[in-house]
Amino acid sequence: MSIEKLVKSKIREIADWPKIGVNFKDITPLLGDKEVFSKTIDELVKPYLNQRIDKIVGIDARGFLLASAMAYKLKTGIAIIRKQGKLPSKTISKQYVLEYGSNTIEMHQDSILPGEKILLVDDVLATGGTMKAAIDLVKELKGKIIGVDFLIELTYLNGKKTLKGQKIRSLIKYNSAGKTKPQKKLAEIGIIGGSGFYEFFKNNAKEIQIETEFGKPSDKITIGKIFGKRVAFLPRHGKTHQIPPHKIPYRANIAAFKQIGIDKIIAPTAVGSLKKNIKPDDFVICDQFIDRTKKRDDTFFDGPKVAHIEMAYPYCPKLRKIAIAQAKKLNLKTHSKGTVVVVEGPKFSTVAESVSFVKMGCDVINMTQYPEVVLAQELGICYLNISLVTDYDVGIYAKSKIEPVSIEQVLANFKKNNEKLKNLISEIIKNIPDKSSCDCQKKSERALLR
Ligand SMILES: [Zn+2]
Repeated sequence: MSIEKLVKSKIREIADWPKIGVNFKDITPLLGDKEVFSKTIDELVKPYLNQRIDKIVGIDARGFLLASAMAYKLKTGIAIIRKQGKLPSKTISKQYVLEYGSNTIEMHQDSILPGEKILLVDDVLATGGTMKAAIDLVKELKGKIIGVDFLIELTYLNGKKTLKGQKIRSLIKYNSAGKTKPQKKLAEIGIIGGSGFYEFFKNNAKEIQIETEFGKPSDKITIGKIFGKRVAFLPRHGKTHQIPPHKIPYRANIAAFKQIGIDKIIAPTAVGSLKKNIKPDDFVICDQFIDRTKKRDDTFFDGPKVAHIEMAYPYCPKLRKIAIAQAKKLNLKTHSKGTVVVVEGPKFSTVAESVSFVKMGCDVINMTQYPEVVLAQELGICYLNISLVTDYDVGIYAKSKIEPVSIEQVLANFKKNNEKLKNLISEIIKNIPDKSSCDCQKKSERALLR
């Protein structure tokens, strides 16, 4: 058996640990197997047998185990890098950014002498953040880095890019995240919208971090109960509105919702009006879109399986019906149909563009509905858009002398109408039947070419 196969046979995958969507690579069985562990160490030290190495730097915590055994074989010393607050003497430290928040690692300032030849070792190369910080610490102490070794490399997380310029070696590689199915269904209904929706959940909500094979969603997902239904909320632009429309991780957002079991998405958006009769503060329950975006990852069907999803009616007809009925009940001025043109942004349109969109048959304009709706359909998720009109677009201004769009107006109007929007979404959630099947779920199955 090749060393790669042998090592892989002793690595156990733990689903959804330490967070949902992560398939953790547990090396405990490898450490416990006397034959495989010793072969692994032999293989790790092989390139360095005839080189001078003064110290091996092991990284908290599994890196220590590999570093110790390798150091014994290579007859070198060891230096350790630990999480903050664990080292008793004088330290140097380095902070680095994580998916959510940051971490700090530390090293004794006398653990490496200037000019010493250093090999850094850890068990897994994922995004490379920890190792990058470790390399910085070694450089600060003027160590000379001979190599950076890992037992496992998760190539799909691009850690090598973070560590550019270093000699990276990994014993085995995983090229895909593997099956990232959740262990249980956490919610049925998902909302993707502005940050005002946190108030939906009183004190019954919890936040979860999710990792998908398409990367991280816009932020943590909040899950709670509304009218006895399990509802998840994801802020489209991130909690502090830090992600512009063209940078939203659309695929990760929809994949994350799919992973936790969601089969219906309610997606409120702000839109500009292209028509006089669609006034600021009105609602539009869109039924069609025209895509004018340019550079977004807009499909899950990337091969080798080839699939084409039907897109004649992209928005879920059942959810649209519920939304229209509830908007009427709440006396909201609502347009029960509408074609949205989705532009790349972040700039607003020129007058010529705006006028041409009207000629194309568009009613409203937005920057985020595409590819969200398409991706949801590809994964068999019902998708409902509720568009809140914040302003008239520039084309109408040029023709009718109505005030053009300003960012202040957009934000002020959206805030003012957010209460109405929240009431509408509450009523929609209340009226979604507990058990219902929908053609949206079947479209995705029909899409596959066999
Ligand atoms: Zn549907």
